[in-house]
This record gives sequence, C-alpha cells and structure tokens, in this order.
Amino acid sequence: MTFALHGIPVSKGIAIGKAILISRAALEVSHHLVEAGKEETEAQRLLDAFEQVRLELDQLRHGLPKDAPQEMAAFLDVHGMILADPALAEKPLKLIRTQRLNAAWALTTELNDLLEQFSEIEDAYLKERANDIRQVAERVLKALNNQEKNSLVSPEFSSFGESGVEAIIVAHDIAPHDMLRFKDHAFTGFVTDLGGKTSHTAIVARSMEIPAVVGVRHASEMIRHGDWLVIDGEHGVVVVAPDEQLLSEYRVLQERAIEETRKLQQLKFSRTCTADGVSIELFANIELPDDATHAVELGAVGVGLFRSEFLFMDRNQALPDEEQQYQEYRRVVDLMHGLPVNIRTIDVGADKALGAGADLSQTGTSPLGLRAIRWSLTEPEIFLTQLRAILRASAHGQARIMIPMLAHAKEIDETLRLIEKAKQQLHQRGQAFNPNIQVGAMIEIPAAALVLPLFISRFDFLSVGTNDLIQYTLAIDRADHAVAHLYDPLHPAILILLANIIGQAKRANVPIAICGEMAGDPSLTKLLLAFGLTDFSMHFSQLLLVKREILKANVGVLQSRISQVLEAIEPVAQAEALENLFA
Ligand code: PEP
Ligand code: MG
Repeated sequence: MTFALHGIPVSKGIAIGKAILISRAALEVSHHLVEAGKEETEAQRLLDAFEQVRLELDQLRHGLPKDAPQEMAAFLDVHGMILADPALAEKPLKLIRTQRLNAAWALTTELNDLLEQFSEIEDAYLKERANDIRQVAERVLKALNNQEKNSLVSPEFSSFGESGVEAIIVAHDIAPHDMLRFKDHAFTGFVTDLGGKTSHTAIVARSMEIPAVVGVRHASEMIRHGDWLVIDGEHGVVVVAPDEQLLSEYRVLQERAIEETRKLQQLKFSRTCTADGVSIELFANIELPDDATHAVELGAVGVGLFRSEFLFMDRNQALPDEEQQYQEYRRVVDLMHGLPVNIRTIDVGADKALGAGADLSQTGTSPLGLRAIRWSLTEPEIFLTQLRAILRASAHGQARIMIPMLAHAKEIDETLRLIEKAKQQLHQRGQAFNPNIQVGAMIEIPAAALVLPLFISRFDFLSVGTNDLIQYTLAIDRADHAVAHLYDPLHPAILILLANIIGQAKRANVPIAICGEMAGDPSLTKLLLAFGLTDFSMHFSQLLLVKREILKANVGVLQSRISQVLEAIEPVAQAEALENLFA
C-alpha cells in the first residue's frame, strides 16, 4: 500500500530506491553486500564465528573456579543454549544466501527482529532473556569483527555501488561521523526519524548532495527493509511503496532536477559579482580534506570552514597525532593551491562525539555543555598538538586558524596564549610555520555578537556560525526535531544580530564571513547581501545556486530596503518588508 511520511527537508533532489534499514547496532558493524558467488563463504564465516563463540563459552564454563557463584555457571549455560539453538543462525544464513548481506549485517538484522519481538512480551523473566540473546549475538559479532580485521578485504559498505543496488538508508538516527562513512558509497538517499535542518548529520547529507529527509519520527518503524521509496528532499516527503504512476511522475521531477544542476554548471567560470558590480567571495565548507577538490572545481576562492573535528570522530581509531593531522591539513592547503583555508579547531560535543581515542565522558552531549573551544581549553595538550599541526601546514600555503564558540575575553586570551606557545614549541624544534598566520573567531554565541569589539580588536577575521547563533539565540536545540519548527533564521532577533555583526565588522575593516547554513541557502542570499555581506562560506553543493542569486541581485536597491525589514518585528509587517526586499 502506498503511503507518504513527512519530515524536515535537508538535502534537495529526488531519490528513488529500495529501503535499507540500518539500526543503531548495525551502524556499529560493517555492512556490505557480498560478491555474487561468495555467499557460501560468507555463510561459513558466520558458522565459524558461532563455533568460535561456542568454544569460548565452553572454555569459560570449564575454567570456572570451584567457588564461583552458581549463577555464573547457569548464565554461561543459558548462553550456550541460545547459541546452540539453530533458530539464531537460520535467518541470518538465509539473508546471506538470498540477499547477499554480509554476516554481521545479517546477524544484527535478525537480532533487531528478535529484540523487537521480546519488547512486546509482558513477562519479566522472558523479557530478561532478550539481554542474553543480545549478549550472545554481540559475542558472535565480535568474533566476526576479528575475522574481518584479520582479512585484507575492506568490508565497509563497499559493494553497494558495484552491485547496482539503488539503496536508500533508513535509520532512527545517524551520527555525523557515521554519515561520513557512507560518503563514498552509492546510496541515493537518507531518511531518519530524528534530526533537525542544521544538525551535523543534515549538514553532511547536504555536502554529499544526496536527497535527505530527517525528523520523520516513525520512519524506521513504518518502512520495511526492501520497500520501494521515493524521497523528495525539497519538500520533506517520503513516499513508501509508490505505485507506477507516482513513480513515473517523480522520475520526471528527478530528470528536471538533474537538468537544472547541469545548467548551473555553466556558471562555474563566471565572475561572482552582483548585477550592480559588487564583487562577492564564495568560500567552501568542508568536512574531509578531499572535499577541497570539489571546492576548487566549483570556483570557491578558499575554504571558509574546514570542520577539522571530523578527523577526530572515527570511533574505531585513536585520535590522530600531530604528524597525521599535519598531513591532513597540508593536503587541504595543497589542494587549494595557495587559496586561504580556515581550519576550525576541534568542535566536538553536542551532536558530535569524539572518537575512541579520547575519553568520551569529557565532552558533553548538551549543546550548552563542554563543546568546541571550551573543551579544547580543558585539554591543552590535545589543543596544542592541533595548533602545531595547523601551524606546520601554514608553511605550505594560506592555512589560517579559526576558533569556534568563543564568548569570554578570558577564553580568547587563553586561546591566543596557547597559539603563541605552539609557535614557540615549533620554533624550538626548528620546524617551519608562518609566524604571521591569521587567526579568526567564529561568532556563534549571542554574547559574542553583543560584545563584538572584543573580537574585532583581537582577531584577524571573523566568521558567523549562524547554525549555532540561531540555536543559542532562540534556545532551540538544532538537532532536536521536536523543536525544529521554531528554528527560524528569519526571527527578527536573528536579523538584527546579523545586521549588527556585519555592520560593525565592516566599519572596523575586519573581514567578516558567514559560514553557517544561512550562507548556502539561496532563498536568503539577497537578505545577506542587503546586510552588506560580501564573504559567503557554504557547502560546495550550494555554491552555484547562491552564485545564481548573486548575479541577479542589485545590492544598492537591496540596501535601500533593508531598514524596513529590520524595523518590522510584527510577523505581518516583516512578511511585507521581506516580500518588498525580494521583489
Ligand atoms: C555554525 O554553527 O553555524 C557553524 C558553521 O558551525 P557548526 O555547524 O559546525 O556548528
Ligand atoms: Mg557552530
């Protein structure tokens, strides 16, 4: 039966494909399709892992000291029985043989089904057995994982593209770093139950130029593995099991969208300047060094925001050391061929967790917690390591340091002191760096916006993080779909703040950019031009769309109309003033 679900559109375009349901547990394991013809080998791997766990449990059972509590033996017996029950392996084996899911994926799929069935049981004793099943399955997954680590094949999602499967990921939630793991794979769309428009997961989806709808609430319960789906990333609609007529209508829309993207490519080489001759600079936001290639191809004049924390978020790896970081930063600098690169120091916390190499308890999950520079200042050694790596990269091009989430003068002073210390350390080692490296601050806390002279006098450049500025001004968790409807870039308070920040920085002759998602939203380009903004930083996927708006705009006219917008606090008056501005 065809039905539609609605959520928050976060990445434009139409995707048509089959649902691949990914559970939280499944995200922790590798999942890929096994090569055709290799199904039996994969099935055997699963059976071997079961056998390995059986031996482990036997060993544990026999190795129990005589005075071990009786429950211990009983516990191991229960696990042995669960493992020996052929039903546990039966379905995963079928999934491997018929759908070519890799063993870990097949097993987690079955595990989730079982856990769901158990969650409906009232009986407390039986409910408790769900935990035993989970623990047994996790042991098998661990055994599989060890096999994979010892094998030379890179299993991560690798064969989707090759097998020609058009897959749409459906998940309850996807963490930003998990999203990045999907980056090189041929998924055609994303649907999640949770998330907001400027959550980092949404930002990564946009950077991948893959249609995505988040905050669909019950999508992962209502959509079944293998269902045909259409995602309309512009309107936030997910059509489940579309009939032939709907499918063909969406195919037409899909073609149109592709054609429009093709047309936009013609703008790549034209100068970025408004109809009345004001030159505008378009920078790119990137998460991974190789993104810089696309930035250059699309005509970005630099990287306005390199979210360096994505190098630190892989849960399977230790934190990169100075040399590894230096190589990554240098790669971006090299790819940008002398253009500026703002390397934003680690911004972990809130919806971005640190990788396995760090103490996870140290960063808060609250957006008001130990995030970004606040965290860096509590970990001066990690911060100094990053600063030295950026400084070393500055010997090869225009690497610049950009600091997130500053609010207090004492934070600024401590940050600048540590930058000086990192320089001294490199000097003592005799390593090259640019002693005049530019240092900039992100303006993303209202307090910072309200005391801008503090920043103007201490930094070489400023960049407004509107995603956080909106979050903190309106007290809306940007990753929480429950309050997503209140996340409003056009709230008069936001417009007044932005106009003030841009105006003050311009008057002081300090370069000012916006690198939050507002800069990449073509429907807001005219508004930002009217504020006098000339430096925009956005995902490269948005560059040409924004450029098209810039080419059509007349800054003189826009600026003559902006005071009406800023004075309009009542919704009706604001709507009229904006309509007049955009006319
Ligand atoms: C912002 O807050 O607008 C910003 C660009 O930083 P991030 O989205 O990484 O928090
Ligand atoms: Mg931010």
